[in-house]
Amino acid sequence: MSGKASLIKRIAYRITVPKCVSCKRILQLDQLAVCSNCYSEYLNTKDRSCARCARPLESCFCANEYLEKHFVKGLIKVFRYRVSPDNRVANSLIYRMKKRSRKDVTDFFSDELIGAIKNSVSDFSDTVITNVPNRKSEIRERGMDHAAVLAKAVAQKLGIEYRPLLVSLSKYAQKSLTAAERLSNADFDLITDESLKGKTVIIIDDIVTTGASMGKSATMIKALGPKRIIGACLAIAYFDK
Ligand SMILES: [Zn+2]
Ligand SMILES: [Zn+2]
Repeated sequence: MSGKASLIKRIAYRITVPKCVSCKRILQLDQLAVCSNCYSEYLNTKDRSCARCARPLESCFCANEYLEKHFVKGLIKVFRYRVSPDNRVANSLIYRMKKRSRKDVTDFFSDELIGAIKNSVSDFSDTVITNVPNRKSEIRERGMDHAAVLAKAVAQKLGIEYRPLLVSLSKYAQKSLTAAERLSNADFDLITDESLKGKTVIIIDDIVTTGASMGKSATMIKALGPKRIIGACLAIAYFDK
């Protein structure tokens, strides 16, 4: 970092005095989003393996059945989302990213997601990053689409193209619905007819619960003719069978 950039960073830090999104302790300069105690807790949350391939979640490329049937070749994920005290820090980070954008939270999560993406994808040539779009009313309410913010940050850091491809036509927020209702509610439309021939598309979302939103997004994108479609999310929260 240049002297000027680091000076600006120090001034910004003094003005904002960022606090840990989980325990509210004041962060040190250079700490992103969480303090060192909460970061250790977050690492414990991440320390789980996939029941199918036995790899740590961050290195697992398994999708669920619904995604596989809907053209998603593999699903990259960082941790498992659960409403549990064990997930306190991870959940605070997700909550914060959705409710109010704080640049260091986006920075933190985009680094985390890039780490997991690199475990499964090594060649980024002809790759396009997009996101599962939020509902229009949610975007209006929050002033941003947090999945798009995350996807753009990941694309920028990896030096690959971010391209918005979809708009959401879903009537209700997915989290308010049962698994079956999510399937009929998830509804997307393409905003472009530009060909994706020969491209790999990475579709980013924050949490994948049933896979309905990501699977339906992939189905629409498939019509643009990409070579392969990969999903990438911060957390999986599959309904337990
Ligand atoms: Zn903390
Ligand atoms: Zn796996």
